[in-house]
Amino acid sequence: KSFSESKLPDNVLECCNNFSKPSPIQSHAWPFLLDGRDFIGIAKTGSGKTLAFGVPAIMHVLNKRKGKWAKRANPLCLVLSPTRELADQIYDVVCNAAKPCGVKSVCVYGGTSKQPQVSSLQSGVDIVIGTPGRLIDLIEMNVCCLAEVSYVVLDEADRMLDLGFEEPVRRILSNISSARQMVMFSATWPVEVHKLAQEYMDPNPVKV
Ligand code: AMP
Repeated sequence: KSFSESKLPDNVLECCNNFSKPSPIQSHAWPFLLDGRDFIGIAKTGSGKTLAFGVPAIMHVLNKRKGKWAKRANPLCLVLSPTRELADQIYDVVCNAAKPCGVKSVCVYGGTSKQPQVSSLQSGVDIVIGTPGRLIDLIEMNVCCLAEVSYVVLDEADRMLDLGFEEPVRRILSNISSARQMVMFSATWPVEVHKLAQEYMDPNPVKV
């Protein structure tokens, strides 16, 4: 498959200018994610999974805008990461891809001062990327509201549960409309992750 077959706008594909073709996980995920389906990707770091869910997140924002740009007080897309390091990596990739499209991403995680994250959220946000603990803090401070989120990604879902984030993840998901599109990436597929998917996803998600 080629990038032109994906029929994505040029500004959305700018982030892929250095690549010759979509990676396998990208060419599998994009058509389903652009079609609004719930999606489970069994993929490791290095597979191009960040753009596999990141490019459709950008398209989700652009589609909701219907051609008219407006600064958003509340994000439309949420990406949950188990660790700060991964959140930072996701942010680098998504931010680089989103900028040429005029889409704003904000990254939030603990172990560092809240104020810059609060300011960044307050200056407008389309896509929020973060770790569960800090995100809950910011929700409780009323500086991050998930009421308009309609595209959710759980990245490294297996690690998320290994690190004990099941309860916070459930709390965060309970803040989000059930009409959302839900995406899960995991390197492995243990029963706990399977259960989470069964509870929070469509009965027939696409699994790749
Ligand atoms: P990820 O799995 O998202 O951590 O991506 C791993 C690496 O693959 C990153 O350095 C990306 O820049 C690179 N990458 C992402 N998409 C492609 C692609 N279509 N072709 C070649 N490399 C890619």
